[in-house]
Amino acid sequence: MGNKTKAWENYIRKVTPYVPGEQPKDTFLKLNTNENPYPPAPGVQRVLSNIDADILRLYPDPSIGLLVDELARFYNVDNDRVFVGVGSDDVLAVAFLTFFNSDKPILFPDITYSFYPVYCELYRIPYETQPLDKDFRIVREDYHKDNGGVVIANPNAPTSVYEEVSTIEDIILHNPDSVVIIDEAYIDFAGESALKLIDRYENLLVVQTFSKSRSMAGMRIGYAIGSPKLIKALNDVKYSINSYTMNQTAILAGVESVRDREYFNDKIKCLLDIRKESEETFRKLGFSFPESGANFLFVTHDYIPAKELYEVLRENRIYVRYFDQPRINNHLRITIGSREQMNMLFEFLDNYINNR
Ligand SMILES: *Cc1c(COP(=O)(O)O)cnc(C)c1O
Repeated sequence: MGNKTKAWENYIRKVTPYVPGEQPKDTFLKLNTNENPYPPAPGVQRVLSNIDADILRLYPDPSIGLLVDELARFYNVDNDRVFVGVGSDDVLAVAFLTFFNSDKPILFPDITYSFYPVYCELYRIPYETQPLDKDFRIVREDYHKDNGGVVIANPNAPTSVYEEVSTIEDIILHNPDSVVIIDEAYIDFAGESALKLIDRYENLLVVQTFSKSRSMAGMRIGYAIGSPKLIKALNDVKYSINSYTMNQTAILAGVESVRDREYFNDKIKCLLDIRKESEETFRKLGFSFPESGANFLFVTHDYIPAKELYEVLRENRIYVRYFDQPRINNHLRITIGSREQMNMLFEFLDNYINNR
């Protein structure tokens, strides 16, 4: 009775949750959560159309063997180096829980994927953020100190900045006593992956996802590649929470996506073409942005505040992402959509900027 805090309420695990990008129903243009404008590979549609509901009576394979094997083939690694989860958010959540158990703080940049501090709070992992420089680049020396682990998103979100693998290797070399996680959600739009280092460093875990480059955000598939020791540790924790994480439909659809290499390469190329054209148009409209290694641009306008643009776009049901945070509150993160979507965005912006 009454408003007095009950004893049990004090025992609730309190956390300020991650705030995902909105999924509004009434969008005109949805460019706020870095979804891919192309459909998944045609084989994904085929397999989904042919699924017999009877397979759902049985539990799925807890080892996710079919998809682990397909990814191992794709990346040319042994299958004891691959861990699959329900989106890379799930993989990251299991990885933080598994690897970051030190009293020392883990390190990540001040501007990065805003899920990292949420996991830290949830699991009570101490952390210390390291400031990116004024061009949103990593200062590698900041990661040359004692720590309980390191997490780097490369390309970074929301900045889109890609760091060369030599920078990543320097950070790994200075951290032989910590697990170093490289979150490569956007790597297929960038350049070389840290996967090429996987044989040399037992403490390196590379995390990727089907959500961006494979157009399958709605299916929820992510994976990690690392040494057999790291992968075993991840599986031990996973089996201690929920063994059957990946549903049977997602496993079959994921396999079809990985098999179709030609479609994958082709659609990435198409998206990079649109990114290039969009960069030119944004520049003409008075925007600047760091060079992007992702399927989005992190833009700022010469004289119109980002918040104003965000609001006027939103009133017109054009959704982009705005972060009301120090250092980035004059930027917008805009997903590269289809050519038609980008043209509609540019038509609107052109009109607004010139009649303001
Ligand atoms: C999108 C994203 C993820 C999460 O992707 P999932 O949909 O959970 O696979 C992880 N890290 C970064 C940096 C992202 O942008």
